[in-house]
Amino acid sequence: MNKSVGFIGWRGMVGAVLLQRLQAENDLAGVTTRFFSTSQVGEPGPVIDGVQAPLADARDVQALAEHDILVTCQGGDYTKDVHPRLRAAGWNGYWIDAASTLRMEDRSVIVLDPVNRSLIDEALEKGLKDFIGGNCTVSLMLLAIHGLIDQGWVEWISTMTYQSASGAGAAQMKELVVQMAQIGQAAGVAAADLRQPVLEVEQQVTELLRSADLATDKFGAPLAASLIPWIDRAMDNGQTREEWKGGVETNKILGRATPLPVDGQCVRVGAMRCHSQGLTLKLKQDIPLDEVEAALRAANEWVHWVPNTKEDTVRALTPAAVSGRLDIAIGRVRKMALGPEYVTAFTVGDQLLWGAAEPVRRMLNILLGRG
Ligand code: NAP
Repeated sequence: MNKSVGFIGWRGMVGAVLLQRLQAENDLAGVTTRFFSTSQVGEPGPVIDGVQAPLADARDVQALAEHDILVTCQGGDYTKDVHPRLRAAGWNGYWIDAASTLRMEDRSVIVLDPVNRSLIDEALEKGLKDFIGGNCTVSLMLLAIHGLIDQGWVEWISTMTYQSASGAGAAQMKELVVQMAQIGQAAGVAAADLRQPVLEVEQQVTELLRSADLATDKFGAPLAASLIPWIDRAMDNGQTREEWKGGVETNKILGRATPLPVDGQCVRVGAMRCHSQGLTLKLKQDIPLDEVEAALRAANEWVHWVPNTKEDTVRALTPAAVSGRLDIAIGRVRKMALGPEYVTAFTVGDQLLWGAAEPVRRMLNILLGRG
C-alpha cells in the first residue's frame, strides 16, 4: 500500500542532505509526502515530482498523526516536545529521527543497517516504532572497523577524533569560514610575500586569534589555525558527552551483552564536514596484518581501503578527498610498537552522509519495504 511520510527538519543541514540523497536515489517515487516546518508554515515546500505544496505546521500533532512514518532531522528539543504528545495521542506510526534524544531509550533502536540490520529486523518483529540515527562519530567508526569487531578479535578501542565544524551546526560551520577569512585579511598579504619573515606572519595570526576581533560567538574559541579539545557538555566522570556516546552508542548499535570498551578524546578541528579518527585497537590475539586488512575490506561496500603509503594517504585519506562521498576511507593500518596485539588505523568519513542522513534514509527504505 502507498505509505504516507511526513518530513520535519528537511531545511536544516542534515535534512537538506537527506532530501538530496532521497531525490538522487528516487526514493520518494510512489510515496505520499508532506513537508513540515516550525517557522515557515504556509510557505512553499520543496518541489517533489514537479509539485510544490505549502509547508504544514510541525507542531500540529493531529496533522503529523495522519502519516504512517515521520522522519525528523529537526533537533532534540523538537523531539522532546512532539514525540511524547504524538504517542500520548495514540499515534502508532514509525518515528525516524536524527536527534540524540531517544537513542538510549529501551523502546528505540539506533540504526546503522550495514552493521546492525539483524537488530533492526528483530525490533520490527517485536513491534518497536522508534528508529534513531546514531552519533556521527560512532556510526563512521563502526562502518570503518566492524569487520574486525564481527570477527570477535577486538578487546578494546581507543579513538582520538578530529571532528569537523559541520557536526556543531550550520552557524558554526560559517563561523569557521569567517575566522579563516579574518586570518587571510590580517596576514594573507604578508604570508604571500616571500621576503616577509615567517615569525612575523605567525605573530599577526596569533595576535588575531587572541584578540576580541576574531568571530568566536558560536564556538567560543578560535578554531581556524587552532583546535578545540572539547565537544558537548561535561559528564561527571571527566568525559565529555561526545566521548561518553562513543562507548554507550557503540555497544547499543552492536547489541553487545558484554560491553566492548571504547573511549578516547573528541576534538573539534577546522575541517568542513568530514570527521576523522585515529584508532588504537587492542586485539585479543596477534592477528596477521593481511588478515586484518581482509576483514576490514570485506565488512561493507563503503569501506575504501587506503594503502599505508604517503602518496595514497595524502591523496585519499583526508577530509578534502572524502567530503561529499559515501566512502569510509581507512588507512595507516599497521601493528604498533606497543606489541603485536595492538593495531592502529586512521579513518575519514563524511559526517553529514553516513554520519547523519544515510542511516536515516536507509531506515526509511527498510520501512517502505525496499531495503
Ligand atoms: P540545523 O541545520 O540547525 O536545522 C534545524 C532546523 O532549523 C531546520 O530544519 C529549520 O527548521 C530550522 N532553520 C532555521 N533557520 C534556518 C535556515 N536559515 N536554514 C535552514 N534551516 C533553518 O540542524 P542540523 O545540524 O541539520 O541537525 C539536526 C538534528 O540532527 C540535530 O538534532 C542534530 O543533533 C542531529 N544530528 C546532526 C548531525 C550534524 O552533523 N549536524 C549529525 C547527526 C545528528 P524549520 O523549517 O522548522 O524552521
